[in-house]
Amino acid sequence: MEKNLSTYRAVQVVSKGKLELAEKPLLDPPAGHVRIRVEACGVCHSDAITVDGLLPIQYPRVPGHEAVGKIDVIGPGVEGWHVGQRVGVGFLGGNCGYCEYCRDGDLVNCTNQAFTGVQHDGGYAEVMIAKASGLMSVPDELSSVDAAPLLCAGITTFSALRNSPARAGDLVAIFGVGGLGHLGVQYARHMGFEVVAIDRGADRAELSKKLGAHHYIDGSTSDVAKALEALGGASVVVATASGGKAVAAALGGLRRGGVVISLGATDEPIELSAFELLFKGVGVEGALTGTPSAGDATLKFSALSDVAAMVETMPLERAAEAYARMMSGQARFRMVLTMV
Ligand SMILES: [Zn+2]
Ligand SMILES: [Zn+2]
Repeated sequence: MEKNLSTYRAVQVVSKGKLELAEKPLLDPPAGHVRIRVEACGVCHSDAITVDGLLPIQYPRVPGHEAVGKIDVIGPGVEGWHVGQRVGVGFLGGNCGYCEYCRDGDLVNCTNQAFTGVQHDGGYAEVMIAKASGLMSVPDELSSVDAAPLLCAGITTFSALRNSPARAGDLVAIFGVGGLGHLGVQYARHMGFEVVAIDRGADRAELSKKLGAHHYIDGSTSDVAKALEALGGASVVVATASGGKAVAAALGGLRRGGVVISLGATDEPIELSAFELLFKGVGVEGALTGTPSAGDATLKFSALSDVAAMVETMPLERAAEAYARMMSGQARFRMVLTMV
């Protein structure tokens, strides 16, 4: 069959829970945007926002916010990027540049920022249109498949650690060695921390050590807080996919002034002891992805220190299968769709 050059293939959500392959018309990017020939796109747990309609979604909608590809067309008014350049698009769809937060340099909290694959079409596609202000620059040393999961899982853990109060040599724990955590352990090790990996089961011990952890705590057989305390107490605990109970459990393992950074997108309440907050001066924070520049740094740091996600790839047309595998928790550890 001859390839139609005025259309491209995409996998879109047509109604809650239903992903379908579609042929879509090729459009030029509007002002401030670029068009990208997507080469790879990671499948993230947060794609459930679109697939399962966790936020109001106008269907059909193409999910995907870990997209890597080459710029194909530059829209009016875009400066600093060129055709053929390989770029990444993450969850934050591009800041506005004029709201109060942007003007204060806080691009993550821009009040006029859409989410990629949620309010506009994302990367489960051969082509996507993205706002230039959200683009990240992909170094030549990283393949598109390797770069893709770093655009959400990578930047989230990298930024959380980089912006944390922990300094080289401090005890830092990564709670949950899954999609986010297996990257978090590697970043923490390469940033020079004494790294503790926490998960359930003995099989994760070997993997955690391989990823660079100095210690492993099996949460199914030991008390996490006590085990951390025995190691001297953590300056920072990064709680990845875990819910409120894990955050509360980690709090007891902090040293004075330590902080738990929660990355798990869950509405499970966190039960805390005010005593602990008061007498140990500890804190609980959340962290949401990062700025485009933090994304550049994530990719560059990953290339420099050989940090990589463990991925399973599937061609674009098998997106529904890839999504289901990721949601089942069976993926080791990130699914990446390939377009070429
Ligand atoms: Zn803004
Ligand atoms: Zn994500």
